[in-house]
Amino acid sequence: VSVGIADGVRPCASDLLRDADVALYSAKGAGKNRFVVFQPEMQTAVQERLELEMDLRDALDAGQLFVLYQPIFDLQHLTIAGVEALVRWQHPERGVIMPDLFIPLAEETGLIVPIGKWVLERVCEQAVVWRDQGNRLGVSVNVSAVQLDRDDLVDHVRRTLAATGLDPADLTLEITETTLMRDAAATARRLTDLKELGVRIAIDDFGTGYSSLAYLRQFPVDALKIDRSFISGIASSSEAPALIHTLVQLGKTLGIETLAEGIEDRAQLHQLQLESCDTGQGFLFARPLDPAALEDLVATWSTINHHSDPAPELERQTT
Ligand code: C2E
Ligand code: MG
Ligand code: MG
Repeated sequence: VSVGIADGVRPCASDLLRDADVALYSAKGAGKNRFVVFQPEMQTAVQERLELEMDLRDALDAGQLFVLYQPIFDLQHLTIAGVEALVRWQHPERGVIMPDLFIPLAEETGLIVPIGKWVLERVCEQAVVWRDQGNRLGVSVNVSAVQLDRDDLVDHVRRTLAATGLDPADLTLEITETTLMRDAAATARRLTDLKELGVRIAIDDFGTGYSSLAYLRQFPVDALKIDRSFISGIASSSEAPALIHTLVQLGKTLGIETLAEGIEDRAQLHQLQLESCDTGQGFLFARPLDPAALEDLVATWSTINHHSDPAPELERQTT
C-alpha cells in the first residue's frame, strides 16, 4: 500500500486532495509500500515530469533522438567484440537527456514502443553500413518489459532483419533480469520465439534481480551481463570478487558468455581477466560514441599490439 498525505490550509478541498495525490505519486515512485507527506517541491517535480512527457511525445518525430555505441571488448585478446546501442535525447532546451531519465517515462506512457522500434531499425541499418565497410560488429539493443509484453515484437524484429539484411546472429537483444522474472513462463515463451529468428539474447544487469537458477536454464540465453555494481565493488568490498567469481563460473557451467559492465580501471580489468570473464565494456576502454568516433576507434584499435600490457594503449585511446 502507498499512502500520500497532505495537511494544512488550501483555498479549497480539491487542492488539498490534489496535493495528497502528488504525495501518493511520490510514494509510488519511491518504490511503493510507504507513506509520503506532501512538500511544495513535489508539485514542481510533477510539473516538470508532465512537461518532459509532453516533449517526449514529439521527440521522435522531431528527430531529437539519437543512438550512441559503446564498444564491447574481448577481455582476453582485447579486441572489439561488438557494440551496445544506447539512446540519447537531444532536448531543444535542456540539452542531452540520458535514458535513465526518459526511458522510465517512455515505458509508463507506452512511448517506448515507437521509440524502441526506431532504435532497433536505426541500429540494424548502422550495423549493415559497418558490415559493408568491412567492419562486422555485433550490435546489442536494449529491450524493455513493455516491448517484450507485446505480441508484435517478434514480428517487428523479423521484419527489421529482413528489411536491413542484417544477419540475425549479429543482433543481441538485452533484457534486464528484473524483466525476465516478472512472468517467467510468458517471458520464456517470448524469448524462445525471438531465439528462433536466430538473434542472441543477453540478460542485462545480471545479479541484481534475484533470478532463480532453475528459471535461468529455461531461458534461451546467450550472455549474462554482470551488473556494474559488482565490478565497481571489486576494490572496496570483499564480497564483490567472490560474487564475480561465482557469476562467471555460473556462465561457464551453463555455456553462456559472461560480460562485465562498467569496467573503469585496470585493477578491475585485471581481476576480470583472472576470472576468465569473456567480454566487457566500460569507461576504461571507451564511453558510448557516435558512429564516426566508433569507426575511428575501430580503425586505430586494430593497428595496436596489445600483447603484454594493454594499459598504456588503453589510456592513450580513452583520453
Ligand atoms: P544498460 O543497458 O545497463 O547500459 C549500460 C549503462 O552503463 C549505459 O548508461 C552506459 O553509458 C553506462 N556505462 C558504461 N560503461 C560505464 C562505466 O564504466 N561506468 C559507468 N558509471 N557507467 C558506464 P546509459 O547510456 O545512461 O543507459 C542507461 C540505461 O538506459 C541502460 O542501461 C538501459 O537500461 C537504458 N537504455 C539505454 N538505451 C535504451 C534503449 O534504446 N531502449 C531501452 N529500452 N532502454 C535503453
Ligand atoms: Mg544494456
Ligand atoms: Mg546493464
